[in-house]
Amino acid sequence: MEAWLLTPLEERPTQKRVTDLPPGILRRCTICGKEAIDEMDLEKFVKRPRDPHGRMNLCKDCHNANSRVKKKRMWK
Ligand SMILES: [Zn+2]
Repeated sequence: MEAWLLTPLEERPTQKRVTDLPPGILRRCTICGKEAIDEMDLEKFVKRPRDPHGRMNLCKDCHNANSRVKKKRMWK
């Protein structure tokens, strides 16, 4: 008896959620929901070159709130 045959596919853990953004939305902050629709909006998002558009799905405001303890007043 092969045990894996009894395991439904749905029960396999999904490690990474696919973030599917609507057309026209380049990036969306997963914390506050802020959206970027153009280059200027992307400036408000945290840089990460290997991500789509070179930005994370995290805006600088939320990033700042999270890392405020480490770097003091870099962002103002
Ligand atoms: Zn945010």
